[in-house]
Amino acid sequence: MDVKPQMKQAIFLVWLLMVPAGLWFTYNTYPPDISGHWIDILAFLLLTSIVATMPIVINNMFIFLIQWVALATFLRFGLFVEIVFAQIAVVVLLLKLRILRKGELFRLPLNLNMFFLLSFISGMFYYYLGGQPGPSLTHDTRSLWLAALYVVVNYLLNQIIISCNLYFIYKIKESYFGKDFFVETITMIITFPIGFVLYILYNQVGILALLFVGIPFVSLSIIFNLYYSSQKINEHLKKAAEIGHQMAERLYVNDVLDLFIQKLSEMLPVDYAYILEADGDELKLIRRMDAGAVMPNEILSLKKNEGISGMVWAKQKSFLFSSRKEWQQFAADNIPNDVESMLGVPIMRSKKLIGVLLLASKRKRAYEKSQLMIIDILCSHFAVAIENANNYEQTKRQSERCALTNLYNYRYIETMLTEEFEKLARFERQMLSLVILDIDHFKQINDTYGHQSGNEILRELASRLSKLVGNLGTVARYGGEEFVVLLPDLSKEEAFQMAEQIRQMISNWPFTLQQTMDLDKAQQKVMITASIGIATAPEDAEDSLALIRHADRALYVGAKRAGRNRVAEYSSC
Ligand code: GH3
Ligand code: MG
Ligand code: MG
Repeated sequence: MDVKPQMKQAIFLVWLLMVPAGLWFTYNTYPPDISGHWIDILAFLLLTSIVATMPIVINNMFIFLIQWVALATFLRFGLFVEIVFAQIAVVVLLLKLRILRKGELFRLPLNLNMFFLLSFISGMFYYYLGGQPGPSLTHDTRSLWLAALYVVVNYLLNQIIISCNLYFIYKIKESYFGKDFFVETITMIITFPIGFVLYILYNQVGILALLFVGIPFVSLSIIFNLYYSSQKINEHLKKAAEIGHQMAERLYVNDVLDLFIQKLSEMLPVDYAYILEADGDELKLIRRMDAGAVMPNEILSLKKNEGISGMVWAKQKSFLFSSRKEWQQFAADNIPNDVESMLGVPIMRSKKLIGVLLLASKRKRAYEKSQLMIIDILCSHFAVAIENANNYEQTKRQSERCALTNLYNYRYIETMLTEEFEKLARFERQMLSLVILDIDHFKQINDTYGHQSGNEILRELASRLSKLVGNLGTVARYGGEEFVVLLPDLSKEEAFQMAEQIRQMISNWPFTLQQTMDLDKAQQKVMITASIGIATAPEDAEDSLALIRHADRALYVGAKRAGRNRVAEYSSC
């Protein structure tokens, strides 16, 4: 809701021109009946102020329940006192709601103007129709009707003023007569009778009436607000459980992180979010979000006690800051300049800290204590989900990789081949080449240098192959000393060149053995060779098994039998 600066100045000016003059006029035209009632008037003012500090909150909407005190004040002490009290009540309410931030100050004169118009017009209307100050509602039916008419006019005028305000000041074109209108009407129906009761009772028992009516009313407001906030917490708890279930269903760490941050930003005002992971004696950033967008994790790690996250870690407890002033002295986390409110929560698993969650908002007082509890619960769901996802990823990694070389294993490459053939069938791939490699006379190497040294060679070969192939394909250990390289979208010629490079890379560079059997030497160099076979789909094979068989055939017939240390491609003849 943007309001132009000229408009804001105009609102201030209107108040200056209208309210003092209006008060002067009212005072002279309808002099208030205040002599000798100072204590009573102060008691009414006190009640007005107390009720003004207790608006009822429904769906983030503040409902101001001051009308009943205002009605009794008007009937008893006249329009002048009622106007003054209403102005004071507005100041008290806005101070209590703390909405008078920089740039929002115009809301004070705006509301003062609205309340002045409301008091003044309905009061004048009452007097115009012949209404008197201090009417006897219990004996005079006409007075009662006039007072009731005053209430109705006051109520309708209030609706009109609110609508005009939304339309002209905030430029909101939709109709106001929706849910808010309904709530306002209900409030009027409930509160005005209380105003009559207060007035009548005050006439009979004096100042005590304020206690008799005030205490139950104020208690009810408190109970209602407690009920409402507990209902809200209930809703949040339900939501937290739901998010917990959703996170538990995610298998991958990244998905859990994304969901967690997304749900947090839906629940709370979040401009910046950081998730840090405890790694040894450091906190490492693993997810960072700025205004809804995931950003690179470029921020440096933090140590224990360093910055706000480090403090959350060291103390293992949550921190809630409502403004920059409160956290500035602790900050070392490269927190953006426009941050005001912050929330730091430890992420615990089995009583051990595994990470820290940091949320920040540009608004002051963006977070509440009650939210902290919900986030705490969400963090424990998150910790479990992350642990499960980590376990899943690790198991998956282990099941598809060979422990000795860390290359993909036979099972993985079979699945991948099937997928690749499906892509070929859908014409998402044009071709697919498979290179199979078998080390020559590897048995002899084992016999000469020992099985451990054989393993070392396999490891070094695996790392050389991965480096050479890079992103062009996938390297896997197919069997004992057999490796395969899957090269999507590479033609037979290109695959042949790649295989030739591999062959030379093996035969031209000696392999280093650390665990040599020859105790005199710390290291030993060994020369080996390999034979390689190639087949390409779709020209050589129509399914994955045929592709492997044909590449294998090329390896044995074309390379091994032809003398080893060579590359052979499959040919059907
Ligand atoms: P060629 O392939 O040239 O015909 O001769 P080769 O000696 O390599 O024969 P073959 O492929 O039949 O033998 C494979 C040998 O590789 C048998 C086994 O001792 C060895 N081997 C297989 N797996 C491993 C392993 O994981 N570690 C070690 N060190 N050796 C292995
Ligand atoms: Mg073999
Ligand atoms: Mg061999």
